[in-house]
Amino acid sequence: MNKLKLGWLKLTEWLTPPRKIIEVHDELPPSKLPTRDLFLLREDGEAWSVIMRCPCGCGHPVELPLIHEAHPHWTLQVDKKGHPTLAPSVWRREGCRAHYFLRGGKVVWV
Ligand SMILES: [Zn+2]
Repeated sequence: MNKLKLGWLKLTEWLTPPRKIIEVHDELPPSKLPTRDLFLLREDGEAWSVIMRCPCGCGHPVELPLIHEAHPHWTLQVDKKGHPTLAPSVWRREGCRAHYFLRGGKVVWV
């Protein structure tokens, strides 16, 4: 990603409100992903996956398993305002190769 685009992404992330978690209890993820917010998929009360659009603008869906049996998997924390933090970072190894952290609902570019 070039420096100009990265600078633009950082600026828009700073200007826009934090991303939120939307809980989904259906068996299948809804077909339409929100532009910025994250879907948290639950089944029988267990949170098993997070899906979001790649924040680089490519719009590719990024699915992040939360269950420990999955490799890799992520840890999700949601604060009182509903703003998610994910660990470790998200790194798309193909396509746009976006690499970022999600902290307090804000994308932090690497
Ligand atoms: Zn992307």
